[in-house]
Amino acid sequence: MKRIYFDHSATTPVDEEVAKLMLEYMTEKFGNPSSIHSFGREVRKAIDEARGHVAALLGANPNEIFFTSGGTEADNLALKGVALANRKKGNHIITTAIEHHAILHTCEYLEKQGFTITYLPVDEHARVSVEDVRNAITDKTILISIMFANNEVGTIQPIKEIGEIAKEKGIYFHTDAVQAVGNCPINVKELNIDLLTLSGHKFHGPKGIGALYARRGVRLEALQQGGGQERTLRPGTENVPGIVGLGKAAEIAKRDMEKKIAHVEALKNKLIAGITEKISDIKLNGHPTLRMPGNVNFSFRYVEGESLLLNLDLKGIAASSGSACTSGSLDPSHVLLAMGLTHEVAHGSLRISLGRGNTEEDIDYCLTVLPEIIERLRSMSPLSGSSTMAESNPCSHCHKH
Ligand code: PLP
Repeated sequence: MKRIYFDHSATTPVDEEVAKLMLEYMTEKFGNPSSIHSFGREVRKAIDEARGHVAALLGANPNEIFFTSGGTEADNLALKGVALANRKKGNHIITTAIEHHAILHTCEYLEKQGFTITYLPVDEHARVSVEDVRNAITDKTILISIMFANNEVGTIQPIKEIGEIAKEKGIYFHTDAVQAVGNCPINVKELNIDLLTLSGHKFHGPKGIGALYARRGVRLEALQQGGGQERTLRPGTENVPGIVGLGKAAEIAKRDMEKKIAHVEALKNKLIAGITEKISDIKLNGHPTLRMPGNVNFSFRYVEGESLLLNLDLKGIAASSGSACTSGSLDPSHVLLAMGLTHEVAHGSLRISLGRGNTEEDIDYCLTVLPEIIERLRSMSPLSGSSTMAESNPCSHCHKH
């Protein structure tokens, strides 16, 4: 059976060049980078090169890049690190209601430690208002953390404008750019970003490696103590294969950025046009234009996201849903709810995230299979006969409410 991977926002395959290099640094070049002999020195050099590639991708300086175990750790380091180091200055942090849980749960933790968090709302397209950001600032605000692009609906935030406000007010600005780095151009200096989170596995690097960009001069406290690695901000023997893999992935992403965006965006436009033409009672979630090149997110009325995913999987298509029943939680996506979707519409959402390996044939196949599945599910659904969505039991599958 044909198998199509449409879940690039969840993770991406490791590039073959990346895997080859990683293998070399597991077998032949295995020294500890802290060792002063030649085995150590050749590895140290490779780490420096990788740091250079990551910095170049962001328009940063290499000494502003700190390797971590991934996006989650970099988010924790940014938020807790700034909070701990700047506590005397203030205890207020501004973020949004649609952040990834790596941010939201870290904020909840900080609230328990005495910090105050403002969770800004978003509009129907998942965009935060720049004026809301400005108005939320108090004399106790030490950090603004707003994601670059949303992982579910792909909406890109007004990062440059927020960066300008933060700079003007002398407040640190962090952005969780896990979805964006390697997939759209970012220059931290032009955007006035002080701290930025990235993760290797979202752009054909390995899992379990990421980085925090921290502008020179940003006051950050380490969350763990140990040796002197990563200039004591993130001690522990380096994940050398991960770091060289991330560096190579960054190099490739920079080299192929324009080509990849053009390819993925063309497929996205074709898919959105095709779904809109072939299927009724749908809603495109996220911003119509200010969205990630590969993100497609639709709600299909009278359909449950989980059934849709399972049926697509049976046809060989791997996608994702905004309804989190399959991940063990009964709640629909906090992102879709924050955008004002009702529970039932949120439950019927499907995220297709395209990548460089997808083809026009993949889109054609999806446009054949998806309308059939939707029609079948709707014909079986007790919801599709009801006059309004509100009257129906929205989450029969999940037994919510
Ligand atoms: N932030 C965002 C926006 C994400 O999409 C993800 C992963 O899906 C993360 C953070 C966590 O990154 P990692 O999987 O590298 O820990």
